Amino acid sequence: MRSLDDNIKYLKGVGEKRAEIFAKLDIHTVKDLLYYIPRSYTDYSFPVSINDAVTGENNVIEATVTAKLPPSYIRKGMTIYKIILTDYESDITLVIYNSEYLYNQLEEDKSYCLYGKITGNGTRKEIYSPIIIPSDCENKIQPVYHLTEGISNKVLSNCILNALKYLDENIYEPVPKEILSQESLCSLPFALYNIHFPKDSKSLCDAKARLVFDELLVLQLGMLLLKGRNRSTTPVVMENMPINEFYRSLPFELTDAQKRAIDDCKESMCGQYPMNRLLQGDVGSGKTAVASACCYFAFKNGYQSALMAPTEILANQHYATLTSFLSPLGVKCCLLTGSLSTKEKNKLRHEIENNEYPVVVGTHALVQQSTHFKNLGLVITDEQHRFGVAQRADLALKGSNPHKLVMSATPIPRTLALMIYGDLDISVLDELPKGRQPVETYAVTGKLRERAFSFVKKQLDEKHQAYIVCPAIDENVTELKAVNTYADKIKPYFKGYTISLLHGKMPANEKDRVMEEFKQGKSDILVSTTVIEVGVDVPNATCIVIENSERFGLSQLHQLRGRVGRGNSQSYCILITDNVTEESRARLKVLSSTNDGFKISEEDLKLRGPGDFFGSKQHGLPQLKIADLSDDMEVFKKARKIADDIINKDPHLIRHDNKGLNNLVAELFDKNSENMN
Ligand code: ADP
Ligand code: MG
Repeated sequence: MRSLDDNIKYLKGVGEKRAEIFAKLDIHTVKDLLYYIPRSYTDYSFPVSINDAVTGENNVIEATVTAKLPPSYIRKGMTIYKIILTDYESDITLVIYNSEYLYNQLEEDKSYCLYGKITGNGTRKEIYSPIIIPSDCENKIQPVYHLTEGISNKVLSNCILNALKYLDENIYEPVPKEILSQESLCSLPFALYNIHFPKDSKSLCDAKARLVFDELLVLQLGMLLLKGRNRSTTPVVMENMPINEFYRSLPFELTDAQKRAIDDCKESMCGQYPMNRLLQGDVGSGKTAVASACCYFAFKNGYQSALMAPTEILANQHYATLTSFLSPLGVKCCLLTGSLSTKEKNKLRHEIENNEYPVVVGTHALVQQSTHFKNLGLVITDEQHRFGVAQRADLALKGSNPHKLVMSATPIPRTLALMIYGDLDISVLDELPKGRQPVETYAVTGKLRERAFSFVKKQLDEKHQAYIVCPAIDENVTELKAVNTYADKIKPYFKGYTISLLHGKMPANEKDRVMEEFKQGKSDILVSTTVIEVGVDVPNATCIVIENSERFGLSQLHQLRGRVGRGNSQSYCILITDNVTEESRARLKVLSSTNDGFKISEEDLKLRGPGDFFGSKQHGLPQLKIADLSDDMEVFKKARKIADDIINKDPHLIRHDNKGLNNLVAELFDKNSENMN
């Protein structure tokens, strides 16, 4: 029997050659083709009259053929066919190049719908090579697909028509019937048929609703299965005791958001399952203080904690912060990084194993490799953003099942966070410490660069420091040069001041040295690539200039901006762009109008679309094909609830009626090399 998983080359109308073209569109099976969702639709249901059709734009008109003019041969290989049509109010000339076939197909006295660009002068309008369907065609809404060279919209639609026939002989319905009727969703064959060839706009809506629902449900199920997999009990059960002495010894009052997050963590760490929590908060929201509180709580319960940072710079910084918060309370911290000698490392590891340090700070690699703890109770990862589902799955360190807290500096809209981190519980720091002054942000063109420099110089004259960011990309060979030459160029503007350089290609210890010197005020300007994006804290820096700012995503610019405004002085961010378009203007305006990272990331999401956000490389998450998170939030929430219900009743998704769903989950996550078993 033919199956939906059949190789596409066996589908009628395809074959080896076309299969290669389909492969470029990531279509390999008949099912892939059925799920190749149209990019948009042309709706022929509401034609305009020829009189009203706007010249220079695409219009849908409906008209009857009155005359087919004889072809004219312009030159070799170029024939023009002209046909006159009327809508009984005015006439239009249809112009076709070379396609005798199309010309022959159009019949006199027959009515057609045409979609294409209208040209022509006052006397008679013309329409060139439009898409044409007969007026009596049942499908007035026609699909428009993303194409690649070698395949036309027409051929693709025909292949899909053939693929749809498979649905007649295969019972294909992965979602249990009760759910479909409870949510008033149409059947899957109906949905697949109508997403490609909608009978009318209502059918299209129904089809879309069904497919969006499926996609979100399957994604949620996958995340919940992942979560369930992490749910073996832990021997680390803490007792929920107060930590008021910690609160009292802090140099500031915690925000309510911080207190809530700490309470969330304390409660989770008292449960019989390991905590698996994401702490999400905008730059400067004070995640480290929350982490310290958790370490202290674990200490009070007699457990060790490990805090892992992605870079040495950050590990150093966290170590300094944790020590300042915890040592007054008699809690000893140590720092495990690559700059230690082997002898020092071994000594430290020995001491860690003997439980001499309740808190260990280090880089991911160092803490994970060959470090043994006496009684590890809590692992905190300072994650910034590049972190996949897969890595999270094996975060648990060897030989224990500790509580886990992941800190993320990227504020993502809550729903999106649920989707990306659906396997984690989430605490959000949605409030900044009191008294923070928002960073004043200006977007300017390159013409004002010199003025920007003299503005920066004034800040330096007041003994402050500044960052200048160039857009060199990590893997780019020219990166070195970009930063170097830039530093040379700006020297004349900053006579008497020290300029230092930082970029991703520098050896780690060199980077640390430059960063450390900047921190100590030994250099005044740091010209850098985006490596400084990651959590660096120099409160005396009050000014950041970002070159080619149009190249960065809004959230990334917001992260960069978060490098300033960390002390008591007013801080500034100057976004320079030489390439001003309407779009870049609109984007940069968002940044000058708000300092709220959550708002910015929502705008970012709207402007870039979830496709970008979901680039599976970034999050290790499957790409969404049809659901659009900016529109489908409600469905998302519903799907989440239903997924919860399903998993509660069938934790491993193995009941017979859930088989279809289980297959879809496996398929979705397999494609992204995620092993769900
Ligand atoms: P992030 O969430 O970006 O990692 P940090 O933890 O680095 O933020 O905190 C940023 C700065 O704010 C640090 O200097 C920290 O000591 C300070 N801070 C944290 N919480 C508070 C608070 N409640 N009140 C005042 N300052 C705070
Ligand atoms: Mg931080």
